[in-house]
This record gives sequence, C-alpha cells and structure tokens, in this order.
Amino acid sequence: MYSVVMTEDYYEILGVSKSASDAELKSAFKKAARKFHPDNSDTGNEDMFKKVGEAYEVLKDPQKRQIYDQYGAEGLKGAGGAGGFSGFEGFGGAGGFEDLGDIFSSFFGGGFNGGGGRARNRATRGQDHEVSIQIDFLAPVEDTEKKIRLNPLEICTTCDGKGAVNESDIVTCGTCNGTGQVTSVQNTIFGQVRQNSTCPSCGGTGKEIKNPCGSCKGRGYKREEKEIEVKIPAGIQDATTMRLSGMGDIGRNGGPRGDIYLTIRVRDHDKFKREGADIFSTLKLGLAEAALGHEIKVPTIYGTEKLKVKSATQSGQVYTIKDAGMPFLNRKNKKGNHYVNVEVVIPSNLSREEKKLLEEFQKLRRGQDIEV
Ligand SMILES: [Zn+2]
Ligand SMILES: [Zn+2]
Repeated sequence: MYSVVMTEDYYEILGVSKSASDAELKSAFKKAARKFHPDNSDTGNEDMFKKVGEAYEVLKDPQKRQIYDQYGAEGLKGAGGAGGFSGFEGFGGAGGFEDLGDIFSSFFGGGFNGGGGRARNRATRGQDHEVSIQIDFLAPVEDTEKKIRLNPLEICTTCDGKGAVNESDIVTCGTCNGTGQVTSVQNTIFGQVRQNSTCPSCGGTGKEIKNPCGSCKGRGYKREEKEIEVKIPAGIQDATTMRLSGMGDIGRNGGPRGDIYLTIRVRDHDKFKREGADIFSTLKLGLAEAALGHEIKVPTIYGTEKLKVKSATQSGQVYTIKDAGMPFLNRKNKKGNHYVNVEVVIPSNLSREEKKLLEEFQKLRRGQDIEV
C-alpha cells in the first residue's frame, strides 16, 4: 500500500530540498514519474503523476523556479488561470505544457528579464550540444576509441573569467549602484507589486567593465577547441545517441556543465547487412555446387568461416553460422548469428563443351524437374 502525499509544494512533490541541483531534480522527477505512472499497477496515480510533471516543468527552468520560489504556487495559478497547464503527456514530451515563460513575461510585463537578459549572477547550467560521428561497419566488433572534436564554452584564461585583465578596469555599475537589481512598481491582478528586476545596464553583475579583456571581449567566457577520446562500446548500433555527461559548455557562476549528446552513425558495408546483432550476407553458388554440395570459406565480420553447403541446396536457402554476428551491447560474450543466404547462379556464358554436357544431362533427367 502506498499513501499519496497531500501537498502542493513542488519540492515536496518531487521529494527534494529547496536547494536541489538540476541533476537531483531530474533524477527525482524520473523516479517519481515512474512511481506514479498510471500504467504502474502498484503505485500508479494519475493525479500525482500530473503534479510531478507540473512540479518538474517549473523547477527545471531556473527562471520559472525563481518565480515559484518568490510567489509560490499561487503566483503560478494566477498567471495561467485555471488552465495554467495543458496537461502532462508522458516523458520527454516537451510539448505537454504551455510555455510558462511566455505566460509570466506577459503577466509581469517582462520584469523578470529586466530588458537586460537573465541575471548573470545566478548559477546556471551550461548548454548541451549535439555531435555526430561516423564509424565503420566493422568497428562495433569490439570496443573502440574515437577522437572527437568539441568546441565548448570555457572560462577565459586571459582574465580568469573576470572580463578584464586588471581589477582596476572593473568598476561598480552606476545604474544599480552595484546591487545588480532595479526596483519598479507593477500593477498586477494581486494589486501593486514592487518588482525587483535585473539591472539592464550590467545584466545583474553589479559591475561595469571599462577596458574589456581582448581575448573574450569582456564576457569572461570563450569557446575553446578541444579533442577528447570516447570509448564506443562493442555492439553499438547505427543512430545510437550517447550522453557524455559534463562535456558541454561550462556553467555560469558555478553552475554545472552541460552535456554532449553524441550520435553514432555506422557506415554501410558492401558485403554485410546488419539487423540488431545479426549479420546477413549472400553466397552465390554455381549449379553444380548447389546440386552436389560444396565446402567453401565465407567471409564473416571476424574473418572467414568454413561452410558446408549440402547437396541439393536451393536458391533462397539460409545457412546459419552461430555466434558469428555482432556482440550485443554491454553483453560482450553474447553474439548474434551470421545468416548466409544462398543464391544459385544459372550460367549465361556456356562454352560449347559445357553446353553439350548440359544437353546430355537434360536428356537423362527427362524433364522430371519441370512442373507447370
Ligand atoms: Zn577574458
Ligand atoms: Zn547594474
């Protein structure tokens, strides 16, 4: 038996503290969503499932989270009316919610952005990036190392992220007197609200840079060329995406780094086809070999394998070479099979002598293979 938590607090719903990091939120959300998923016969609960979705949708976004921390659920409900959320439709469905950012910015007249972009002093997570690489068809036979070029945002080493080389070039912002915030009074449906918003002059840093660092143009961050080695695991399939945790852009003000989403594209092969861990190839056989049986070496992804073709083998017949397929991902000792599809070739370039022999053969068969 499981009792449902009767709470409207988004942090409590997800079971995290008010200071939870992005990663903690994400893992708490996944856990809770799995637990309350209506398909879960033990602990499924549609109402809680929706609440979990609402809570995460707000808390995962630093801007929305700040609004929630400041105004609570009341502010959220007021902003969107009764239909503030358009429903939660499964995992990863980014389209499940209306864009709360728009709702809030129209409600508060854009006060949260202050016209100067998001507050620069707040810790924010670095950007994720997508990268894709090609590997050869045979590469997934074993683990391989692959070099990948990245271009992540890093702290500028020339100014140590300060934006200016000399401390004396950094002065207090005149607009906000160094607080990074300006105060305005807004009329909202709650009445008059004194609204602190980010200083538009300094973007919330409270500082002004007189002589910006030439290397980063005063930003304190810049993109750096970087090459990393990535282990591509044996058995990987085409179009698989790997997450390289913490390899994306550096976070701002101590926020966590973003991730790299690396998509693996596997090139085609002229002899082999692949489905999952199984390999398929075609073996062309002459009339005589197919009829009399034959022993032949066929190429596999590991080299060659001796194959005994039995007498009376037909076109379309499939021979299985067990465990000669690709390794299964993360189960290296288990491999797929190699399926050899036989194609019997009727010769089209018969010599005079061959033709004579076949005519002889035809006479002996007396049409017994013909059926109409
Ligand atoms: Zn710099
Ligand atoms: Zn300022």
